[in-house]
Amino acid sequence: MTNANHPTRALFDEVMVPTYNPATIIPVRGEGSRVWDQDEREYVDFAGGIAVSALGHCHPALVGALNEQANKIWHLSNVMTNEPALKLAKQLVDSTFADKVFFANSGGEANEACLKLARRYAFDKFGEKKNKIIAFKQGFHGRTFFTVTVGGQPKYSDGFGPKPGAITHIPYNDLETFKATIDDETCAVMIEPLQGEGGIIPPDAEFIQQVRDLCTQHNALLIFDEVQTGMGRTGELYAYMGLGVTPDILSTAKSLGGGIPIAAMLTTNEVAEHFQPGTHGSTYGGNPLVCAVANKVVELVNTPQVLSGVKAREQWMREGLNQINEKHHIFTEVRGKGLLLGAALKPEYQGRSREFLMAGIECGVMVLVAGPDVIRFAPSLIIPREDIEEGLARFEQAVAKVMDA
Ligand SMILES: *Cc1c(COP(=O)(O)O)cnc(C)c1O
Repeated sequence: MTNANHPTRALFDEVMVPTYNPATIIPVRGEGSRVWDQDEREYVDFAGGIAVSALGHCHPALVGALNEQANKIWHLSNVMTNEPALKLAKQLVDSTFADKVFFANSGGEANEACLKLARRYAFDKFGEKKNKIIAFKQGFHGRTFFTVTVGGQPKYSDGFGPKPGAITHIPYNDLETFKATIDDETCAVMIEPLQGEGGIIPPDAEFIQQVRDLCTQHNALLIFDEVQTGMGRTGELYAYMGLGVTPDILSTAKSLGGGIPIAAMLTTNEVAEHFQPGTHGSTYGGNPLVCAVANKVVELVNTPQVLSGVKAREQWMREGLNQINEKHHIFTEVRGKGLLLGAALKPEYQGRSREFLMAGIECGVMVLVAGPDVIRFAPSLIIPREDIEEGLARFEQAVAKVMDA
């Protein structure tokens, strides 16, 4: 039973700013795709800490990398560079379109860097009138004031005073509206190459290709927010690789650190040179401790075995979810790519996704939501098949529970 000296969920309401409403259980330990709470109850983890724990919990190689670096040096600041940051940047450059890397600590911060760089590039090259940013409804890019304003849910950016300007939101996958919106004053288009928080919405092939072509035509930079889709999540190292469309700037975070807070902005030489010493920065960005761990994550994920393993696991997840649906008839479809999957609820269950998450916890499986109408799955990229099967069996119990409620 819970040790009387352990902090409880009630303490959260006492001492934490109420930005969240966490579940009543408190996990204390994890191994692979299993997690244990204060009462030693065990859960199958289909959530991965919101698409973060790419190699599960406490992967021995990551624990090793962390411990090794912990005994060397933790932090220097960017007054000096460090070996793990250089190695990580080299790995990222060698395996993507990018020539240059900027490190940040979270997805929102990486996106903030992307947007500032795009604005500065346009300002330097074309003058101050080229400042328009096009983004998409239901898109999510982080919680800094710039990124949350570029994000496509006004309720997250309203009520904080004057917003950063010259940002237009249009519907995702709506090519005609996009064509009518982009012009020579557009400096950047920011898009998720598969909308995550917005409900697991994949892009149409024709749409994303045309977005690329029109950006090139209008000298607008194409920014791919791959914070959620990146680092193997879709079965490609980055989702752009599976789409055959290359951005000018890309942000990556979440899976990149496997649970350690790190993010990066990737771009080309031509764009990168518009940031100079002093234009942008971060005290912690590229800190040796986090980079040492991320180096190991990239090394382990960026292999044909792990990436093709993601595709195999996608099939197992889809088959299991489809079987549950054949019995219970609750989803309209299962969509997404790799291990970023969404089960869209039928109209009669819409608005109730959180009930499935909570019922999942009661039944011993952790899942996510993507808005009120979609249940999201983002497990470890190397989750064992038996954990997928056990997790799905528990999820089916959770479904039955919600249906009986
Ligand atoms: C999670 C997420 C972010 C924000 O990342 P933080 O690390 O929370 O700042 C930005 N963009 C996308 C697509 C995300 O999924």
